[in-house]
Amino acid sequence: MPIEKPVIIAGAGPVGCTAALYLAQRGIPVMLLEGDAELPQTLRASTWHPPTMDMMQELGIAQAIIDQGLIADRYQYRDRRTGAIAEFDLGLLQGETRHPYRVQTEQWRMTGIVWDKLQSDYPNVECLFDHTVKGVHESRDGVEVLVWTSKGERIVQGSFLLGSDGADSSVRKATAISFEGFTYPEKFLVASTPFPLETKFERLSLVNYIADPNEWLVLLKTTSLWRVLIPTDPNNLDDSLFLSDAWIQDRLQHMAPHAEPYEIDHRTLYRVHQRVAKTYRRGRVLIAGDAAHINNPLGGMGMNGGIHDAYNLAGRLTRIHEGADIDAELDLYDKQRRLICMNVVQEHTINNKKLMEAKDPEIQRKRQDDLMRTAADPELAHAFLLKTSMIQSLRDAAKIH
Ligand SMILES: Cc1cc2nc3c(=O)[nH]c(=O)nc-3n(C[C@H](O)[C@H](O)[C@H](O)COP(=O)(O)OP(=O)(O)OC[C@H]3O[C@@H](n4cnc5c(N)ncnc54)[C@H](O)[C@@H]3O)c2cc1C
Repeated sequence: MPIEKPVIIAGAGPVGCTAALYLAQRGIPVMLLEGDAELPQTLRASTWHPPTMDMMQELGIAQAIIDQGLIADRYQYRDRRTGAIAEFDLGLLQGETRHPYRVQTEQWRMTGIVWDKLQSDYPNVECLFDHTVKGVHESRDGVEVLVWTSKGERIVQGSFLLGSDGADSSVRKATAISFEGFTYPEKFLVASTPFPLETKFERLSLVNYIADPNEWLVLLKTTSLWRVLIPTDPNNLDDSLFLSDAWIQDRLQHMAPHAEPYEIDHRTLYRVHQRVAKTYRRGRVLIAGDAAHINNPLGGMGMNGGIHDAYNLAGRLTRIHEGADIDAELDLYDKQRRLICMNVVQEHTINNKKLMEAKDPEIQRKRQDDLMRTAADPELAHAFLLKTSMIQSLRDAAKIH
């Protein structure tokens, strides 16, 4: 039966926006509800992996994302003590993807592009700010969603509800889905500087993971800024220390001595968790993206994995619109995306962090040697890149029935 009542999407982050655009393009009615009064522009994910760019191309927005960002055709793992560099050439993925590179564009640029497109091109979509989803009741053939606005409460009727409302998801809580896993004791600081850090390191690429037994780092370039991700001391609970100029300057000077203080444009301190929801489906209510899973940012799998959820789910809702069985499609969404998240994304990100911060110099040396050997062997590098670019996880998910 065609979907007549709108698919209600809670949250206009990259995950909600992907689902909304996909469904809109197939003529399915959508109501996209964003709790904030405007789209958040905080600096968060900025790496777009190759298969995610393939999806963006299918949605017609890949070029707009590329135009507002940088193309990273290689990335590096560096060992801070030895200076060894293992460099991976994403060009080896030629033939596996239409985008054999990562794109570095802040996530807020994509949500802005999609929100504008939905409003101008798709009369079947209603986009509303200041609409915070608070609860849901499922009826025989749809959902009733409780929404808070600054003018009071509203109940809206839909066919399905997608909770893409982020890590603190109200939809997940309203459906009593547990969010199992753990929280790292240390917080992560991201400091952004317009200083050209490529002048401080030899052959620096746009994405760099720098291992060190005392303090590992991630250096990422966006159009105007270098972003430096630094773990903080879990024994010190004073957030104001880590956000202070003195602490950040000390860490940046430790990373690369410079005669002047570095100019700092943004600083964010945040907690990092590894958690996966017990299920991604409760009847006609689905969750995706950070609402369903969160992990550390090493490898850039959070936003990308969330977008892959949205793509899978929107494809299944389209099949339901065309007559496919609701339970079969939505159960498979839960199974494919949750298993992949548990078995691949969680494992990869947890191991990645363990290795980056390993205190034992022998473990660090062995890891760097392994990475150097892998990078130097085209066959091994190809398999490694299929995994780290998330192409492999999409292929593995498609095999789950
Ligand atoms: C500080 C920070 C830094 C990060 N840095 C990185 C990084 O460097 N690399 C990386 O890969 N990942 C990073 N992440 C993770 C990445 O940003 C997320 O994986 C990604 O944003 C997930 O997208 P999403 O659409 O699921 O959720 P979100 O982007 O969180 O979007 C959720 C949207 O829903 C809205 N909303 C919330 N509640 C409701 C409600 N009840 N009703 C309606 N709307 C609601 C919010 O305002 C928001 O617009 C970072 C996260 C944080 C918090």
